[in-house]
Amino acid sequence: MQNINELFLDHDSPAGRLVRGLAAFGAATAGQLSKSTGLGRSTVSTALTELRDAGIVIDVDAKASGFGRPSQLLSLSPGSGRCAGVLLGLGEIRIVICDMTHAVLSDVWIPIRRDYTPEEAADQVRDSLTSQCQSLGITIADLLGVGVAISAPLSYDGKVLNGDVLPTWAGVDLAEIFSTRLDCPLHAENESHCGALAEMTWGSTVGESDFILYKFDLGVGGAIVRDGAVVRGVSGSAAEFGHIVLDPDGAYCRCGNRGCLQTYAGGYHLIRRAEEFSGQPVTIDQFVERAREGRIGYRRFIEDAAEKAGWGMGITSSILNPPLFVIAGKLATIGKAFLEPLERSFNRHTLQHPDLPGVSAPRFVVAKFLGNDDTVMGAVALVLRQHGRIVSPAT
Ligand SMILES: [Zn+2]
Repeated sequence: MQNINELFLDHDSPAGRLVRGLAAFGAATAGQLSKSTGLGRSTVSTALTELRDAGIVIDVDAKASGFGRPSQLLSLSPGSGRCAGVLLGLGEIRIVICDMTHAVLSDVWIPIRRDYTPEEAADQVRDSLTSQCQSLGITIADLLGVGVAISAPLSYDGKVLNGDVLPTWAGVDLAEIFSTRLDCPLHAENESHCGALAEMTWGSTVGESDFILYKFDLGVGGAIVRDGAVVRGVSGSAAEFGHIVLDPDGAYCRCGNRGCLQTYAGGYHLIRRAEEFSGQPVTIDQFVERAREGRIGYRRFIEDAAEKAGWGMGITSSILNPPLFVIAGKLATIGKAFLEPLERSFNRHTLQHPDLPGVSAPRFVVAKFLGNDDTVMGAVALVLRQHGRIVSPAT
């Protein structure tokens, strides 16, 4: 029997397909694995026996896993492999290492100045991962892979298409910079796509194969999930909902255009308006808190933002007709002061209006991950789901 790192890359054998299925789900029954892989029940049963004998797959208690199903749940053995997720954030880098049951073994935050260079980031990631791996008795080369989440759209081969939160990174080749420092497979994706993967793996959309995620945070991002996979588009920059133009004469946007949705419903722009209003510096967390409390002025800021957010989502719905919208990001934590006017505006701006006969209006849910857990866990999910690989192993 191959080891788990080899099985992960074996796309032909039933054992390889089951290992990747269990890595993506965390835990599953033989029936679920048969359905998700398309393998017959007897083929699944034979391969599972081999994987159990090799110590790669274990039986887990259904109740202990919170599923409550009568069928036996299976999972990868916790010690059979490790993978890491990296968030390259604004003024911080966060790195987690997980085992094959998705348990977090190590979680490190590294403060770094806001205008850090790609080389500095890669050095920090290498040094921290080296010591995190050492404390777990492994090396970076033992990892199944490292997933990197970044606040910018990425090409399929790991080039930053433009820098929004990290403007000086436009054109940077992540594959080149990280592959010289990390001796393992590398995966990379923009943070909103990572957020969708985290929700699919651990959050509000487990079991959902089609949905659209809108993330309202400092900027506005999103993801389109079709048939259980994140749609990336021809260049990797699909679902940049923040740059839907609502007014060609509107405020200038970081993308070089004017009147983008982000200039109305993105945290940066809202904070700037709040600072003009209050005459004092305002952080995104202060903004969210004051809007939630319904403070004078802030209530209006957030209602206006929600109006434009619903408009953008209505356009998206008319084009794609999704069954489900997930609302993520810090503005979602404001609650009904943001979500109610957003839904009213959505209904005004879409063909999928709930009052129209024969129309199935989309459901709305709030994301489970609302801090930056979505991004870093989504980076782990890049490896577990084998999404967005930019560097293959030397083998
Ligand atoms: Zn824009």
